[in-house]
Amino acid sequence: MSSKAIGFVGLGIMGKPMARNLMKAGYSLTVYDVVASSVEEIATDGAVPASSSAEAAEKAPVVITMLPDSADSEAAILGPGGVLEGASEGSVVIDMSSIAPGSSQKIAAACETAGVDFLDAPVSGGEPKAVDGTLAIMVGGRKEVFDRHADILDKMGSSVVLCGGYGAGNTTKLANQIIVAANIEAVAEALVLATKAGLDPNVVYEAIRGGLAGSTVLDAKAPMMIAGNFKPGFRVRLHQKDLHNALLTGKELGVPLPVTSMVQQMLGALMNSGKADSDHSAIANFIEGMAGAAISRD
Ligand code: NAD
Repeated sequence: MSSKAIGFVGLGIMGKPMARNLMKAGYSLTVYDVVASSVEEIATDGAVPASSSAEAAEKAPVVITMLPDSADSEAAILGPGGVLEGASEGSVVIDMSSIAPGSSQKIAAACETAGVDFLDAPVSGGEPKAVDGTLAIMVGGRKEVFDRHADILDKMGSSVVLCGGYGAGNTTKLANQIIVAANIEAVAEALVLATKAGLDPNVVYEAIRGGLAGSTVLDAKAPMMIAGNFKPGFRVRLHQKDLHNALLTGKELGVPLPVTSMVQQMLGALMNSGKADSDHSAIANFIEGMAGAAISRD
């Protein structure tokens, strides 16, 4: 088994470019996704196709998973035909999915029982940073396991930080998602207000982006809202899931999250109106609906 071999499970918007960056860095990948066409696409780029998560794990000392939510990570790692059926003792599972911290801890415990190391390592930065290999990666797990595998994470991210024990990566990711959600919602309210007041939202955006209201979120999402371009990016359904996980965690810890709760409801309403797979900047559509006014388009 080559030390440069990696099994990679979950080839969606994020998983595909992350897998490509690992191949560019000289790793040989065995890949699996429940969608066969995604496996074929990455196989065309030089990866070895596998027919299950277990098979992807059999051939590599390191397995990376990049899946939608807790239930998917648990199914792909712990379930029948899952990673732990194929992984050998001493190997490591790095789950880069954004899932509930409690689910990461459950998976970590099962891995430890099987003699397999585990890190939860969710990311921030979206598809553009996944393509550039400049993601922010927040990690939970044991320090010696982190130190042994940080070089692999470096190939996908420009910032790789160990945040604490099992689940700490995903708790940090929830903090990240609260800030992003509240920021997108504020951008949407601001642009609808300015537009209904008769201003050009492009001018408003240019005027404020260099001041205190400027942010990575403003620069990424205001142009999308103004153009009416809601191609994902980061899907409404995934952000709704992250905020749901944040609310569950807040409930466990006795931390009220009033703004998070409100934006989570907005995302849920967008899902009911057929926008589950739109970019999360479609929060603008919810505000537009309430205001009876659209942010003007280019
Ligand atoms: P996606 O829906 O595009 O991709 C998920 C992939 O997992 C799909 O190809 C799906 O077929 C596959 N899959 C689901 N269950 C599976 C299973 N049991 N076995 C094998 N494959 C399975 O999602 P994405 O946008 O790539 O996001 C992946 C994770 O990264 C999510 O947790 C998301 O919240 C997080 N994330 C996404 C972004 C973003 O901008 N898209 C940014 C940061 C973090």
